[in-house]
Amino acid sequence: MKDSQANPQPIQVKLLGPEAKAPHAIVDVAFLCDCTGSMGIFIDKAKDTVRKIVADIRAEYSDASIFFAFVAYRDHEDGNALLQLTDLTGDVESVLKFIDKLSAFGGGDEAEAVADALDAASKLSWRSDSVRQAVLILDAPPHGKEFAAASDSFPAGCPCGKDYKELLKRMHERDIKLLVLNFTPSVANMISIFVQHHPGVESVNIPNQQQPQPAALSPRFAGWGPTIFGSHAGGFAPGAPVFGGGSSSAGSGSIFGAAAPMGSTVGTTQQVQAAALMSQSISEAVCRNVGQKLGPATKR
Ligand SMILES: [Zn+2]
Repeated sequence: MKDSQANPQPIQVKLLGPEAKAPHAIVDVAFLCDCTGSMGIFIDKAKDTVRKIVADIRAEYSDASIFFAFVAYRDHEDGNALLQLTDLTGDVESVLKFIDKLSAFGGGDEAEAVADALDAASKLSWRSDSVRQAVLILDAPPHGKEFAAASDSFPAGCPCGKDYKELLKRMHERDIKLLVLNFTPSVANMISIFVQHHPGVESVNIPNQQQPQPAALSPRFAGWGPTIFGSHAGGFAPGAPVFGGGSSSAGSGSIFGAAAPMGSTVGTTQQVQAAALMSQSISEAVCRNVGQKLGPATKR
């Protein structure tokens, strides 16, 4: 359409004026992070991911209101440490402090309490009219024989009766997208099952020792724009804290080689690359979700 045809109401355009802004973006992002023994480096990287999401969204929507929640989950043998969480808040610093205090430990068998994490996610204070994104970061499947974990103390599923099917359905109904960061082939089965109950489930494969090929980002992330694909240093400061005293977990599902201690935040080059790709992938997905809901916003 030519400009002369596209502007039939010049008065309205004038009222909007040069101060018109991008749509006000209300964005809620919840991290659901497996915090058992093998996940230390990725917990640490979650802080960079939070910062990157804020920067990337604000680059497009300068007035965006971005809330974060963090749900750390482990397993049913881990007592009070089964779940540690902070609800959705716009106080990003408080979320970063929460992540700082987490450590990677526990886990027991390979399968972990993923259903409890989904349950916690469904109970977060999602804002009305928000763009909602949950991000599941894990390297082991849920309890339940259908997920085919290498070892599972609860093959009948979550021992406290949390039903992942119901929870996924509820998340879908509430338009909470779920991105799964898949570090290990042992989670592939879970993803194909989850998609059956929540069409908004997506996954990104993160390369690791068992998948040494450099993974191209999925084409579905294309088109958001260069701000999302900006370079990411991905390094860790010298003297970064090493969580815990090593893992009590047998870690049968560990994606990590022997080069780095379990629970360490100081990873091998490959782990650091995987963590950087994680950060980038999550931010791309969140921004794409925002873009789909609110339409593209040009940088102002
Ligand atoms: Zn449970």
